[in-house]
Amino acid sequence: MTRAHNFNAGPAALPLPVLERAQREMVEFEGTGMSLLEHSHRGKAYEGVHFQAESLLRELVGISDDYAVLFLQGGASLQFAMIAMNLLHAGKSADYLLTGIWSQKALAEAKLIGKARAAADTSVDGKFTRVPTQAELSIDPEAAYVHLTTNNTVFGTQWHTLPSVGSVPLIADMSSDFLWKPFDMNRYAMVYAGAQKNIGPSGLAVVVMQKELIRAARKDIPVILRYATHADNQSLYNTPNTFAIYMVRNVLEHMKSLGGLAAIEQHNLAKAALLYGALDQDPDFFRCPVEHASRSTMNVVWRLPTEELEDRFVKEATKAGLVGLKGHRSAGGLRASIYNAVSEASIQALIAFMSEFRKTA
Ligand SMILES: *Cc1c(COP(=O)(O)O)cnc(C)c1O
Repeated sequence: MTRAHNFNAGPAALPLPVLERAQREMVEFEGTGMSLLEHSHRGKAYEGVHFQAESLLRELVGISDDYAVLFLQGGASLQFAMIAMNLLHAGKSADYLLTGIWSQKALAEAKLIGKARAAADTSVDGKFTRVPTQAELSIDPEAAYVHLTTNNTVFGTQWHTLPSVGSVPLIADMSSDFLWKPFDMNRYAMVYAGAQKNIGPSGLAVVVMQKELIRAARKDIPVILRYATHADNQSLYNTPNTFAIYMVRNVLEHMKSLGGLAAIEQHNLAKAALLYGALDQDPDFFRCPVEHASRSTMNVVWRLPTEELEDRFVKEATKAGLVGLKGHRSAGGLRASIYNAVSEASIQALIAFMSEFRKTA
């Protein structure tokens, strides 16, 4: 088997050793006579995995006991709704920093629940090419929370310095750049991420949240949608997605073996520098629409002189074993998602392909 160079935006590349481990353990898990998929979520075998996933995440990031770690179903999108249902108290308003389609969706959900507004919006003709400056933010000091998307998967932008929001609780959707580098959890009241970009399979959201925020959350909502329900039951209120949590545990263990988040950051910075370097060498042909200071280290987007060339690029790249390079339908163009599990060898293969393509275009 030859593994493809996988640039998919999500679900996305996973580390090969993690997949091979899952394969080895699939039919019989740790001598128990059955697959982990067949184990009770209340039994010892699964519980070991479940709590190890949590402790590895706490260790890698450095999460204090003031925060709960939750593994929830419904991906990142359910969080858009749960955040507002739990935290948007009657009479309060929430601020959203609009930097792409995911933050727009988060705001739209919040508006169905209560009062919410855009405290920044960098869209021009429906497209986003940068994140806002501090001066462009109009934070309501009384807001229930400020919500931002740390990395904009579709438009290829990323916050490289966190905005200052005073004493308003900051909530971040980190779906597409979770654990790409170390970060200070204490700057946030809550962070969450759909697992399928950087740390595992789809359908699972990892939520890290101040226990205080959970205690103060609304109670007039369905039990299953309350953060308190999941925190009180250590994410075992109902049957969790056991296999996805197992895969996340394996990815986290793999990340630890690589030297943790600081080592992973160096690897990611080197990959992004290589690819942007190749684009910048020939900016008339490979045009990156994103402002320099907002460039994402995870999703690199670029255009070619015509849409015909872009279509041809995707087709020929796929034939050459480079998969997932078509841009999102709302942004057009090309996109390489270069998450943690994408190797430098894959970036080199892409750059070599780009240079060959350039010669024949
Ligand atoms: C992919 C993505 C989502 C949506 O994730 P789902 O798990 O499909 O709900 C939300 N936010 C960001 C930033 C994403 O990249």
